Amino acid sequence: MNILVINSGSSSLKFQLIDADTEELIAKGLCERIGIDASQISFTPAGGAKQKKQVPMADHREAIRLMLDVLTNPETGVVKDLSQIGAVGHRIVHGGEKFSGATLITPEVENEIAACSDLAPLHNPANLIGIRACKALMPGVPMVAVFDTAFHQTMPEEAYLYGIPYRYYEQYRIRRYGFHGTSHDYVSKRAAAVLGRPVEELKLIVCHLGNGASVSAVKYGKCVDTSMGLTPLEGLIMGTRSGDVDPAVIEFIAHKEGKSIEEITNMLNKESGVLGLSDGFSSDFRDLEDAWEKEKNPNAARALKAYALRTAKYVGAYAAAMNGVDAVCFTAGVGENSPIMRTMICGDYLGYLGITLDEEANAKRGKDMVISTPESATKVLVIPTNEELAIARQTYALIK
Ligand code: AMP
Repeated sequence: MNILVINSGSSSLKFQLIDADTEELIAKGLCERIGIDASQISFTPAGGAKQKKQVPMADHREAIRLMLDVLTNPETGVVKDLSQIGAVGHRIVHGGEKFSGATLITPEVENEIAACSDLAPLHNPANLIGIRACKALMPGVPMVAVFDTAFHQTMPEEAYLYGIPYRYYEQYRIRRYGFHGTSHDYVSKRAAAVLGRPVEELKLIVCHLGNGASVSAVKYGKCVDTSMGLTPLEGLIMGTRSGDVDPAVIEFIAHKEGKSIEEITNMLNKESGVLGLSDGFSSDFRDLEDAWEKEKNPNAARALKAYALRTAKYVGAYAAAMNGVDAVCFTAGVGENSPIMRTMICGDYLGYLGITLDEEANAKRGKDMVISTPESATKVLVIPTNEELAIARQTYALIK
């Protein structure tokens, strides 16, 4: 059965069509600048060339109509008609405490997703628009919601509660939720397969290091702690997000510069992280690593060193939270592609876990691999994440 996976953002829509039986990608694409000028759709059939065209897309419904047109185009499409799409899996950012797994979308589920918009105002409304547009254009096709927060719902309360008056949790459900859950789930299971051991026997730390970044502690297959919180701002230093800061910083800056809380939160989300630490040089690790290697750029060095230390501190914290660790796994843009960052994190800080990297393996790219030496007491792995495949699998499992 073919499963269409949709990731609907505020002005973009990513899609992949996956054959859930063979787990092969059939085609993927992206609608950009929806509702803005110069909207564009790109489409790549597996093994084929990328096609791009500028087409006006006033809203998500229009984008989804175009997506279905390119998928079913008699000359360049990949399926004959919509009957060859068995189900749609939607990536939903926030499921609050309601959803601990994928769920078939009903009107009640839509209402619950809307109720979580408070917690993810940029994401959940856009996700809902995608669901509603799909329902209108694909009547009768089952729709499944797969939540970024679901995998972390197994965290115990000592991990998810903040040290603030308990009534804030009771009244508003202020707590840590965690994100990138589909990736942490997928990578921890893949890591167990690569190690040839059941995930139920392993203590794993997954470092999802992309533009957004988070670490999770996965004990015996269940998440017991993760670095992102009520929102995806907490935890690691990221591309443009600050990660952990003393909350008093907000009041301090507000007084010094007469800024509003909204302005400061925006700065913490969009102007901070390695972009802010490098004094505005770049949020992209390729630029930072290049500048450091070629010209010893001090702004790049400062950002990379702070990023590595923060990540290593979370690994240490999660080894403590699980009272041990069998393997540390790296994934996402930086985790999969940056041998330098993996060396900085493991080489400079994780020797006490008995970690030694195999430099030759660490220099390779692109597939599931163990990058620690056979003697390394704690294993280190690189596992490319595949959130779309994970969403297709969960969607298929549910509707089968
Ligand atoms: P993601 O959010 O997982 O797509 O990750 C995107 C980030 O991965 C980019 O912003 C880059 O900083 C980083 N990245 C991608 N390729 C490389 C590479 N070859 N070396 C270092 N960093 C990379």
